[in-house]
Amino acid sequence: MTESAVADATIASIAKPAIKPARPHFSSGPCAKPPGWDASKLAVEVLGRSHRSKLGKARLQYAIDLMRELQETFGTAIVLITHDMGVVAENADRVVVMYAGRKVEEAPADVLFNAPGHPYTVGLLGSIPHLDQAARSGARRTRLNEIKGMVPSLFNLPAGCSFAPRCGLATERCRVEAPPLEEHRPGHFIACWHAA
Ligand code: SF4
Repeated sequence: MTESAVADATIASIAKPAIKPARPHFSSGPCAKPPGWDASKLAVEVLGRSHRSKLGKARLQYAIDLMRELQETFGTAIVLITHDMGVVAENADRVVVMYAGRKVEEAPADVLFNAPGHPYTVGLLGSIPHLDQAARSGARRTRLNEIKGMVPSLFNLPAGCSFAPRCGLATERCRVEAPPLEEHRPGHFIACWHAA
């Protein structure tokens, strides 16, 4: 059996019974199931394609609703791996930010979005559009921040902090010693020599 067939069979056996007693948000309104999409097929699609950002907004929302349904039915946690900070903001209770294969920040979602501590997290949040800010400033188009440089190869990581070649706050210490992940406030962990 191929990998996708195993995933298909597994998800079909879990997802179909879980969503049979359809909740209102599956049958009407903005979260309605997109036409022609079977739950198990969609879940397989999410697993296989979401990293390539090929899901439309309606399908992505449906997939998230499906995951919530499964979470409530089975009383489980969900680990969502994504670069889409909007999806994270709307759905996560706790966020872990990874950089070059390493955890660089972990915090409750509201803390992380309101007071990010690691320069990489700050850069990530600065690179997403904020419609409310644009509306307040009256700007029709606002320039987003970008994190300069590229993520290093995991086979050739720089010495010290892996983010140092791209970090505007990097000092000599950063280029020599890798910072440990430390708890700066209760439940808020940051791996950075210069985190406040
Ligand atoms: S340890 Fe230094 S290089 Fe790494 S994120 Fe913090 S300030 Fe930047």
